Amino acid sequence: MDFRTSATDSISSSSSPSSEAAPLLRRSASVWALAAVPLALAQLCLAKPNPNWLDHDRNRPQPKVVTPATPSTQQQPGRAPSDAIVLFDGHNLSKWVGMDGKPTKWIVRDGYMRPARGSEDVRTLENFGDCQLHVEWATPTPPHGGGQGRGNSGVFFGFGRYEVQVLDSYHSKTYADGSAGAVYGQYPPLVNACLPPGQWQTYDIIYTAPRFDAHGKLVSPARITAFQNGVLIQNNVELTGPTSWLERAPYQAHPAKQPISLQYHHNPVRFRNIWVRELGKPGRKEFTFPNSLLDRYVGNYDPIRITREGSQLVATLSGVRFVLFAESPAHFFAKTTDVQIEFPNGGGRHPDHLTWSVGEGANIAERK
Ligand code: MG
Repeated sequence: MDFRTSATDSISSSSSPSSEAAPLLRRSASVWALAAVPLALAQLCLAKPNPNWLDHDRNRPQPKVVTPATPSTQQQPGRAPSDAIVLFDGHNLSKWVGMDGKPTKWIVRDGYMRPARGSEDVRTLENFGDCQLHVEWATPTPPHGGGQGRGNSGVFFGFGRYEVQVLDSYHSKTYADGSAGAVYGQYPPLVNACLPPGQWQTYDIIYTAPRFDAHGKLVSPARITAFQNGVLIQNNVELTGPTSWLERAPYQAHPAKQPISLQYHHNPVRFRNIWVRELGKPGRKEFTFPNSLLDRYVGNYDPIRITREGSQLVATLSGVRFVLFAESPAHFFAKTTDVQIEFPNGGGRHPDHLTWSVGEGANIAERK
């Protein structure tokens, strides 16, 4: 099709220009016609949101039905949406451990959890990558201290790496990038949406984990969007690296799924109604168990050698290394190849064998 001819004809036939206006209109029509070429091509080449589906495709799957959360009041926490993993419902700390994976010193009282004196940070046993996290917190009342010493805690993603600050910033001043709702040390909150100390406040945080390539090079940074008490306070900010103080720390490669943690900063900040929704394709469940458990499995099980690197086991088979992820205290799997390893009896002191498979079957390997 000759778009220039069509366009010119269309304008000529639908208009009755005066003799003075005609040259200008003809010139305009010509310009318009030339512009139509790339426009038409662009319409043919427009990117589709998902090339696998037609626009309005009747066969496209319906969204999963989720019963929404119910809102909290100061007196009563709300209920999590139906597809959320409830991390704390006011009853027990079964989903939480100390940062070393051992039982935490945090305590449960009257439907909330808080650190005991001399506690440490507390983390989830389960690992989470991209997610929507809901958490409610209340700083001490009457308030004590000022600045960073006034109701300080934090919500961390990435196993203690990336902090959204919790602080009593209600009529209390500190440096902006350390106030409540800050991505600590990097981004102040867009506004101060704090309630008075002692009142329950909500964070709804969307976390996108950073991604690294096989060589540990950063592919995409961590991102955070956050609402405090329903008010947008962080709008998809790109983190420059892990949270740090007095320095700008660089990214260090880590798996996308890591524990979520709450900070103990020597202030008895309370938490309640914590739930998380995993986003994207989170894959199978995985957990970070204590190093003391993992160390029981370390050894040479011909033809597999098991070592520990940080909080993860690594299997070496035929000279190839596989980072292992824990599905349970006894069952581990790799993500690059379908390698599965099971230790007997949930892990005795030093198991005398393991069961391994690659893609199929099951093989026993005796410990040497
Ligand atoms: Mg903090």
